[in-house]
Amino acid sequence: MSIKDNLDNIHSEIAALCKEWDRDPSDVTLMAVSKKQSAEKIQEALEAGHRNFGENRVQEALEHWQAIRDNGQYDDLKLHLIGPLQTNKVKDAVALFDVIHTIDREKLARKIAGEMASQNRDLPCYIQVNTGEEEQKAGVHPKAVAAFYDICKYECGLNIIGLMCIPPLDDPPALHFGLLKKIADGCGLPGLSMGMSGDYERAIPLGATVIRVGTSVFGERENV
Ligand SMILES: *Cc1c(COP(=O)(O)O)cnc(C)c1O
Repeated sequence: MSIKDNLDNIHSEIAALCKEWDRDPSDVTLMAVSKKQSAEKIQEALEAGHRNFGENRVQEALEHWQAIRDNGQYDDLKLHLIGPLQTNKVKDAVALFDVIHTIDREKLARKIAGEMASQNRDLPCYIQVNTGEEEQKAGVHPKAVAAFYDICKYECGLNIIGLMCIPPLDDPPALHFGLLKKIADGCGLPGLSMGMSGDYERAIPLGATVIRVGTSVFGERENV
């Protein structure tokens, strides 16, 4: 199966699920997660017409995408940051990415807002929610999201468009997708970044607007 076949198959599944659940397929964006994938595979996805890509590390994203960005051939390219962001990488992240999915603390929100002002950029952002309340995992506690959203919006002036979650490995993901949807509805936020290769079929019925799919698009990641 080529990457184009994989993308076509996932788009067909999105269309079928949207039909079944009475959703508009244009409300579900397929983000292809290109972390730990080769430049050849990324090129193949671009040549298949795909334009939304996700990366979880700033340094690797620069290696994958800076030259492609600079050459200007794919001017509708959209790069999504889906991994934890350290404040010392914010400058590079704001310059490279188009969407940030992992806002999860006030210090980071302020730093991003300041950096966007000085670079004259205004990226749409998602708040990452730790729906499983896992100690080692990034994200805002579910009960703290509403207050944190107010800080991001009114004090930092960030353009928050939705919420993002990564469910715990050993829990039914639908519980977490449902919880994320409920919190987003409570905040009046339309965007839901949820669902990966193993569980996007369950995220779409629960309202996902962006699914983040890596291995089902590109195959297994390289161990680099
Ligand atoms: C790697 C990653 C994905 C993609 O995972 P797959 O199981 O390969 O689809 C999605 N979201 C985040 C935050 C990731 O880090």
